[in-house]
Amino acid sequence: QPELSGDFGKLMEWADDLRRMDIRTNADTPSDARAARSFGAEGIGLCRTEHMFFDDGRIHVMREMILAEDEAGRRAALDRLLPMQRQDFTELFTIMHGLPVTIRLLDPPLHEFLPKSEEESREVATAMGMDPAILAQRLDALHEFNPMLGLRGCRLAIAYPEIAEMQARAIFQAAVDAAKATGAAVVPEIMVPLVGLRSEIDYVKGVIDRVASEVTGEAGIRIDYLVGTMIELPRAALQAHTIAEAAEFFSFGTNDLTQTTFGISRDDAARFMTVYQKKGIVEHDPFVSLDFDGVGELMEIAATRGRRTRPKMKMGICGEHGGDPTSIRFCENIGLDYVSCSPFRVPIARLAAAQATIAAKATRMGDA
Ligand code: PEP
Ligand code: MG
Repeated sequence: QPELSGDFGKLMEWADDLRRMDIRTNADTPSDARAARSFGAEGIGLCRTEHMFFDDGRIHVMREMILAEDEAGRRAALDRLLPMQRQDFTELFTIMHGLPVTIRLLDPPLHEFLPKSEEESREVATAMGMDPAILAQRLDALHEFNPMLGLRGCRLAIAYPEIAEMQARAIFQAAVDAAKATGAAVVPEIMVPLVGLRSEIDYVKGVIDRVASEVTGEAGIRIDYLVGTMIELPRAALQAHTIAEAAEFFSFGTNDLTQTTFGISRDDAARFMTVYQKKGIVEHDPFVSLDFDGVGELMEIAATRGRRTRPKMKMGICGEHGGDPTSIRFCENIGLDYVSCSPFRVPIARLAAAQATIAAKATRMGDA
C-alpha cells in the first residue's frame, strides 16, 4: 500500500488540523478503498455500483437480468447477483471500519451492458441459450435514442424495483456481517441517483425502508442508515427544499450537473472545449473545474434550499470537481461537509481543503 510519510506526511497532518471539510474517496473496489485509506480518506463518498458488474465473471449475469423477458427472469438473475454484492459491500465496510460509506444504487446508461455489435449479440444469445430473434426483439425494446438522458439512475429503480431491492438487501446484509466482524458500527448511506422529483426519492426510499426492516428483523440487529440523493439535475437543485423532505443527505454530482446545465455531453465535451478555450469563449473546461456562475449557482441554491427544510443536512460533492482545488474552495464557501474524489487525489484534496478554510477565514476577517 502507498503510504504518506516523512515531510509530506507531516504537511498532511498540518493540513488536517486546519481544514473544516472531511475528505472522502470515490471507490468501488477493495484496492481503491485501501489505497484511499492509506492516503487519508475519511470514508467513501461514492461507490458506483454499476462498476462492480463489468468484469467477465459478472457482466453476463447482469445482461441476463437486463435482457430477461419478465420479472421472474430478472429475479432469477438478481438472486445470483445478491451474494456477490453482499460480499462486495462487506469488504468495503470492513476496510472503512466504521467510517461513512455512501453506496449509490445502480446508475448505468443501460447500453453499457448490452452487446455492441451483431457478432457480440450472437455470442450473448449462445451464452444465454436465447433464440437470437428473441434477443433482437429485446434489444429493440431496450433501445434508447439518448441513453444518458434515458432509463438511468432512479428511473431504473422505479421501472424495475427488484434491482433496488436486491442492492438494498445486499447493503443491509453486509452491514450486519461487517458490524459483527469488526465490532465497529456500520451506518450505510444509500444514495439514489439522478433524482429530479421528490416523488422519485419517496418511491425508492419506500423500497429501501421495507428491505431494511426485513433484513434487520431477520438478523435481530439494529442498523442505522441514511437515504439520500445526488443533486445532479437542475430541477433537483431548484427543488432541493422539497427533495430534502425525503432525502437525508445530498451529494452533488457535478459531472451530470455540468452536463445538464450546459446541455453539453460530458463524453464529447473535451473535443470542443479545447477550441472554446483557445478562442476565449470559456476560461476553463467546466467539466474539470466548476463553472461558478451557472453550475455553482445551482449548487448554492440547492444547499440553501435543502438546509431550509433540513438545517443540519449533510452535504458533499462526488463529481470529478471534488478533487479540483478551485472547486474545493467553492465547496468550502457554500458550507459543504465533505468532498469526495478519486483515491490518488485525496492528498491534494486534504491540502486544498485546508487552504480553502484559511482563505475563508481570511475573507471573514477582512470583511469584519
Ligand atoms: C456525477 O454525475 O457527478 C457523478 C458523480 O456520477 P457519475 O459520474 O457516476 O454519473
Ligand atoms: Mg452522475
